[in-house]
Amino acid sequence: MLAHKPQVLNLLVKPIGSACNLNCAYCYYLEKEKLYPAKGGRVMSDALLEKYIREFFASQESSVVRFDWHGGEPTLLETDTFRKIVRWQKHYAGGRQVVNSLQTNGTLLTHEWANFFREHGFLIGISIDGPRHIHDRYRRDKAGEPTFDRVMQGIELLKQHGVEFNTLSVVNDYGAEYGVEVYQFLKSLGSRYMQFSPVVERIASEAGPGELRLVAPEVDGAMLAPWSVAAEAYGRFLCTIFDEWVQNDVGYCYVITFDAVLAKWCGVEPPNCAFADVCGGGPAMEANGDIYMCDHFVYPDHLLGNLNDASILDMLVSERQLHFGQNKQDALPKFCRRCEYVSICAGECPKHRISTTPDGESGLNYLCPGLKLFYEHAAPYMDFMKHQYDAGGAPASVMAWARRRLKPLAPNSVATIDFSAIGPYDPCPCGSGKKYKFCCLPENRHTCRTTNH
Ligand code: SF4
Ligand code: SF4
Repeated sequence: MLAHKPQVLNLLVKPIGSACNLNCAYCYYLEKEKLYPAKGGRVMSDALLEKYIREFFASQESSVVRFDWHGGEPTLLETDTFRKIVRWQKHYAGGRQVVNSLQTNGTLLTHEWANFFREHGFLIGISIDGPRHIHDRYRRDKAGEPTFDRVMQGIELLKQHGVEFNTLSVVNDYGAEYGVEVYQFLKSLGSRYMQFSPVVERIASEAGPGELRLVAPEVDGAMLAPWSVAAEAYGRFLCTIFDEWVQNDVGYCYVITFDAVLAKWCGVEPPNCAFADVCGGGPAMEANGDIYMCDHFVYPDHLLGNLNDASILDMLVSERQLHFGQNKQDALPKFCRRCEYVSICAGECPKHRISTTPDGESGLNYLCPGLKLFYEHAAPYMDFMKHQYDAGGAPASVMAWARRRLKPLAPNSVATIDFSAIGPYDPCPCGSGKKYKFCCLPENRHTCRTTNH
């Protein structure tokens, strides 16, 4: 156990547990209610909320303390609960700055909520998957009705009241085919901080009445859930959005995946734990005070303890939690250790490590083919931005360069291509499917299938 207080602690708190007014088909959290069958135990008591806030301040030494409110749907609670939360924060802050962020499906927002968020500077994350046909595909209410219009009303309210919001979009089997459409839509809403979360779930072959149906990665014999995104489709989704972003929006829109990959490219800590070298940055607390190692690992085997029995600090810096974090690295299959992108990728999130390597080792990330596709596609631009970063310049200067590289071409008009802007490992623009280095790069021209250049 650490002998000193850490600078910063993260903890996602679910003051209403997994309770939600919606019934999104791909949600991995709704069924967590099976872990807490007792009725009435799903709302965090005032005493526990106050204890959490007091201990959370006492557990860390940072001058800014961040509170992350999640669910379920936290706006099922009354605004009065959050007014009490803000009062306790003021009381226990000891002069430190407080940042509150709250993730919501947006369907229950009212003028009262929006006023409250504005008054207390809450940062709001809205869960929206894209335009209507994409969002309503899976995000439905308990009656099976679509929710797009209600989310849009919620966003309008936030805008009316000047509340800052960002977006969280799940990338599933359907939406993955519409990368540019999703990106342009989110931009049109005014979202400048976008998080894309790939859904990869497996369904147990058998689950008793009280057992979870969506299982942890180490469980054998489960089937991929049909709403899971295909790995290559996820890669293409990222690539198409990246092309829009890198030509037009660097420094204006923040796509967390791109920021994280760029951070790793530059050798700094990424803003997304999926690309961090170790885990442990996203533990979660349920309404009864149970703390789990990660929001993506709310399974009985990953329970650290309960706030009523142990301190937050003891749980979050415990040997078990440190081992969970370190295991992200230690459990990497040899295939990943040999991968040219491992220093960027870190094997991505262990929740997605359900595949087998070509040589039969388990623990490969299911998204690997898509991740590689994206790293390879983004590499020249990441290199460019890294050089800018190293030289103290602005990465945004990549946009003009990217526009020259990615300018639209008339079909088969390779003679018009600016070859000087193409990196040796880029796909060759002649359409051969080979890398440029092994195709039309001048010394290799004799191997190219085209003849007009
Ligand atoms: S398990 Fe996944 S979500 Fe949790 S900390 Fe690790 S990378 Fe992040
Ligand atoms: S790209 Fe694939 S092989 Fe490489 S580190 Fe990531 S998951 Fe492993």
